[in-house]
Amino acid sequence: IFKKSLKIYNKNFRTYAEYKPIRSILVANRGEIAIRVFRACTELGIRSVAIYSEQDKMQMHRQKADESYMVGRGLPPVQAYLSIPEIIKIAKENDIDAIHPGYGFLSERADFAQAVIDSGIRFIGPDPDVVHRMGDKVAAREAAIASNVQIVPGTDGPVTTSDEAMEFCSKHGLPVIFKAAYGGGGRGMRVVRKMQEVREMFDRASSEAKFAFGNGAMFIEKFIERPRHIEVQLLGDKVGNVVHLYERDCSVQRRHQKVVEIAPAPSLDTNIRKKMTDCAVKLAKHVKYSNAGTVEFLVDEEGNFYFIEVNARLQVEHTVTEEITGIDLVQSQIRIAEGLTLPELGMTQDKIVPRGYAIQCRITTEDPSKQFQPDSGRIEVFRSGEGMGIRLDGASAYAGATISPYYDSLLVKVIAHAADLPSCCSKMNRALREFRVRGVKTNIPFLLNVLEDQKFVNGIVDTSFIDENPQLFQ
Ligand code: ADP
Repeated sequence: IFKKSLKIYNKNFRTYAEYKPIRSILVANRGEIAIRVFRACTELGIRSVAIYSEQDKMQMHRQKADESYMVGRGLPPVQAYLSIPEIIKIAKENDIDAIHPGYGFLSERADFAQAVIDSGIRFIGPDPDVVHRMGDKVAAREAAIASNVQIVPGTDGPVTTSDEAMEFCSKHGLPVIFKAAYGGGGRGMRVVRKMQEVREMFDRASSEAKFAFGNGAMFIEKFIERPRHIEVQLLGDKVGNVVHLYERDCSVQRRHQKVVEIAPAPSLDTNIRKKMTDCAVKLAKHVKYSNAGTVEFLVDEEGNFYFIEVNARLQVEHTVTEEITGIDLVQSQIRIAEGLTLPELGMTQDKIVPRGYAIQCRITTEDPSKQFQPDSGRIEVFRSGEGMGIRLDGASAYAGATISPYYDSLLVKVIAHAADLPSCCSKMNRALREFRVRGVKTNIPFLLNVLEDQKFVNGIVDTSFIDENPQLFQ
């Protein structure tokens, strides 16, 4: 039946993009995101293949794929998932049609995308030159300017001396934010509010960046006071169509890292939403973006929005967009990589209609009463919150699982979907209360405090919310 329908499909619709079905996918990642992709593969009838490090021999993502192969024997745990030649060798030896990079690890490495393509395998993501351009802060900002998207005033390139820092601050004024040019994930940032502190803070931030990322170069930007972090989800195909799947509000952050995400952004002015989504689509069309991607903005108190970056990959918080649009982003990524166009996938802008609200909480094995120190060990008891409107995406959330100290501390993502924001909050609250986790500490008490905060329930929080509300840690 499948073959027959495919033929008709080809005859009737295929005009320009080359269609080549994908029969097997290797996921160059681990944990929950690897499992997320395997699930999409299985639903599409595609063979799924896992890789795992020596330390991950017992991890669940191995079991959820049709086959699995060890990578990076003898290497440190993170390095194993970064061994490009070995990953490609495994793919070649096992007849793999396409590689999905997940998020983190190699997902934004243009050299990886290129190496995959050079070996005759498809890369499930944008073209390598687009990955490169979006990962290069200066090039990304140039692309934003060229498509009339407003950017945060900042240095034109990486800055290495405190003299240059002084010059920028004298010209543009304070406060500013220093960002490690080669950092990421919210790490290596520092806000400076006093002129006499610029030099010392710059030197300190730069030497920290050198230690953490191997390079002390910094970007300096004007610090936007109390912004909301709002990002637009995009899908582009290989023939230039781009649609947006509305936005997510990721303002609930601890140390510039996202903790709770909401779709759509609560009480966002309709005009601002329209302008932001238009800008994001324009930017994507300008760089010929294909596959899934996100344009991130900061929105100030007056409703001005500024481009911060493009994430040329699937994001941790993609789930909330899936819940409100009913669109499976991973399946869409695979179909686009096969050469199907957005109209062929039934995705024209008018058909993408958001429904209700979705919230994602990242349950981590971190102890909120000890400054979120990561905990590891064996989970003795595990009972999860479930029921209508609750989705769980995880990898090691079960009794008997061992939480490894080697990787990030995400235990399970809990996603709630309901008709409006207050019911979504109360559904999430109820689900979190059903959880029983013993053996390792989790951040659930902290997440509950966030969900019970009146400002959060009313949908009016900005990125300073957690820092300015120390009672959330109790
Ligand atoms: P990363 O790539 O490390 O995640 P981003 O540039 O995306 O870093 O920024 C992460 C977060 O840091 C933002 O969501 C925001 O809360 C804060 N931030 C970044 N740049 C600024 C800025 N210019 N003004 C105010 N806050 C900022």
